[in-house]
Amino acid sequence: MSAGLTARGLVRRFGGIAAVDGVDLAVPPGRITALVGPNGAGKSTLFDCLSGAARPDTGRVLLAGRDVTRLPDHARAGLGLTRTFQQIAVFPGLTVGQNVRIGADPGRRGTVRGLLGLPAPGRAASRAAADRALRLFGLEAVRDWPADRLPTGALRMLELARALAAAPRVLLLDEPAAGLDLAQTERLAAVLRALAADGMALLLVEHDVQLVGALADAVYVMADGRILARGPTAAVLADRRVRAAWGGS
Ligand code: ADP
Ligand code: MG
Repeated sequence: MSAGLTARGLVRRFGGIAAVDGVDLAVPPGRITALVGPNGAGKSTLFDCLSGAARPDTGRVLLAGRDVTRLPDHARAGLGLTRTFQQIAVFPGLTVGQNVRIGADPGRRGTVRGLLGLPAPGRAASRAAADRALRLFGLEAVRDWPADRLPTGALRMLELARALAAAPRVLLLDEPAAGLDLAQTERLAAVLRALAADGMALLLVEHDVQLVGALADAVYVMADGRILARGPTAAVLADRRVRAAWGGS
């Protein structure tokens, strides 16, 4: 049994096309793993299979050694798996603080936790988790703003804060640095490093080679639904095939 998140032989088809075509992947605790590859490679679809937003046609997903392949996303969330989306998904009618608190809300996760016999976190605990997440991403000053007044970069930070408020053990981030300025990207990198040092298992889809090189312990390169290369970051980034698949950058 291994901690973190593991995928074995995942396949996900759309019509005749396998967007994910036999993927094995390990996202170990205490590490930052990057998933890279050109547009259309299947990265977001793989995330959907891992998070439970989509059911793979074949293959298995293991969370802390437990087979969660048939569990929907909210049940996987209750077991400590949280993801963010490439398309930012915040509630525009709510304030920044309310959005973050939803991530930690005992009501939202109560059913799943109840089903699994886990104690629901108290209101005070969820508020504390939300406050911590707001602080980590420098959002305290805009806590009472409507979320739809935030510029893109700050919205991205809000989404990350909300994901963290759920106190996940495994965190999947789909292009978390998209739309961030340099200072925000540095803050993001520092937070992700601290989370990994604290034992969290992190998987991120990222286009920025510099950021991947600076952050990731290991890299998976995906193209046409398959894993083309994998290994320690420096070795993978030095691989010529990888640079070709990545679009020459
Ligand atoms: P990436 O995130 O690497 O850019 P995606 O996972 O979004 O790649 O897409 C992989 C392939 O699957 C693409 O060819 C895309 O057009 C296709 N695809 C993704 N989602 C759907 C869907 N809901 N229906 C049909 N085809 C899809
Ligand atoms: Mg994508």
